[in-house]
Amino acid sequence: MNNPPRPFALAIHGGAGVIERDQLSAVEEASIRADLDAALEAGRSILANGGSALDAVEAAVVALEESPRFNAGKGSVYNADGKHELDASIMEGQTRRAGAVAGVETIRNPVRLARAVMEQSPHVMMIGAGAERFADAQPQIERVANHWFDTDTRRAQLDQEQTRERTEAGDESLRGKYFGTVGAVALDSQGNLAAATSTGGMTNKRYGRVGDSPLIGAGTWADERCAVSGTGWGEFFIRNAVAHDIAARMAYGGATLAAAAEAVILQRVPELGGDGGAIAVDRDGNIAMPFSTAGMYRGWIATDGSRGTAIFLQGD
Ligand code: ASP
Repeated sequence: MNNPPRPFALAIHGGAGVIERDQLSAVEEASIRADLDAALEAGRSILANGGSALDAVEAAVVALEESPRFNAGKGSVYNADGKHELDASIMEGQTRRAGAVAGVETIRNPVRLARAVMEQSPHVMMIGAGAERFADAQPQIERVANHWFDTDTRRAQLDQEQTRERTEAGDESLRGKYFGTVGAVALDSQGNLAAATSTGGMTNKRYGRVGDSPLIGAGTWADERCAVSGTGWGEFFIRNAVAHDIAARMAYGGATLAAAAEAVILQRVPELGGDGGAIAVDRDGNIAMPFSTAGMYRGWIATDGSRGTAIFLQGD
């Protein structure tokens, strides 16, 4: 007799930040939720057919990168030079293999290149011109001109930020200038975990700035216990090794997934002055999605098949 299929779980985020309820029109909100749902579906169809957590997180993140509504792939924010520099990473729990790219400018789906670094190179992370050169030898990696990532919304955000910087001289803080980084975490029916994260970074970031999203242990982590993808003020996520700290609290301290994720996101990061959120799943399929910002675009499919999307703190 065949064993019944083991349950799977999936969670995604489309970024944490200042998401004001009254500034989000019903039409925009519906489009965002539809895009979150399409990303969930991309991951679900793989997991439901016995596919791997790694394939599922990659597919979900590609779907979010393709949406102009999130700050990853199409719709990425602009740096201070009016260009886009994209970062992404991916990690597989049971093998602890990982791949990452930072500061890439012509890669339509940076998470795919991160996976290629993991599988087709002896390295974990490649950056800028070198990563682009590596991509030249990867026919499956689609290239686009940098302006392909442009959107009017992100351009307006850059203009607004640069005006603010001129009028509030000396304040180069990136506070509150993010939302839309995307990520996915999954548990597959084999019991394996994976995580992936992709971003355009933060609006008006200085050329060459790299945040937490492509850094294994800061923005992304997966091991045999849990998988984590973060979003928020990247400098603080790096300084707190956020994704790995969540895993370490479970491994060394015996914390539950929820307690570990909440301690790091709701206490450690704010204590230093940062904010943001994370999604995480453990090997039993528990899901945690804490955030300290006004909102976080997110979606989930639990082990019992229940499914949803949410934006605000109240869970709606
Ligand atoms: N964490 C990202 C970064 O600092 C931004 C975000 O999550 O929206 O690049």
